[in-house]
Amino acid sequence: MSGELERKYEVEIQKTEEKHKFTKEFKLILQDAGLMDEKGKLKLKGVSPKMLKRMKQEFVDCPVLKENIQFIQCFICPNFQSRVMGKVFCKGDPL
Ligand code: SF4
Repeated sequence: MSGELERKYEVEIQKTEEKHKFTKEFKLILQDAGLMDEKGKLKLKGVSPKMLKRMKQEFVDCPVLKENIQFIQCFICPNFQSRVMGKVFCKGDPL
């Protein structure tokens, strides 16, 4: 055993100039997880506002859900392991 985390996918993080809107459902998930306040402001631990702004423009082509997912959504996904050199290490379990 190498001790390396098991992962199925390395998903490239892509960038868009477009501003993404969160869906209502996703906002509720974020609020439930304590990652967003009632005003819809995100608060991710250890993430600076500048980073957050950048993260909001990023997305991944999720191999599990087979659609484009905002990076922030991917970030809090149970399959998310880490972000390394512009890639997400994804466990790839069915969601
Ligand atoms: S961590 Fe979740 S959202 Fe991100 S690519 Fe993997 S399955 Fe998709």
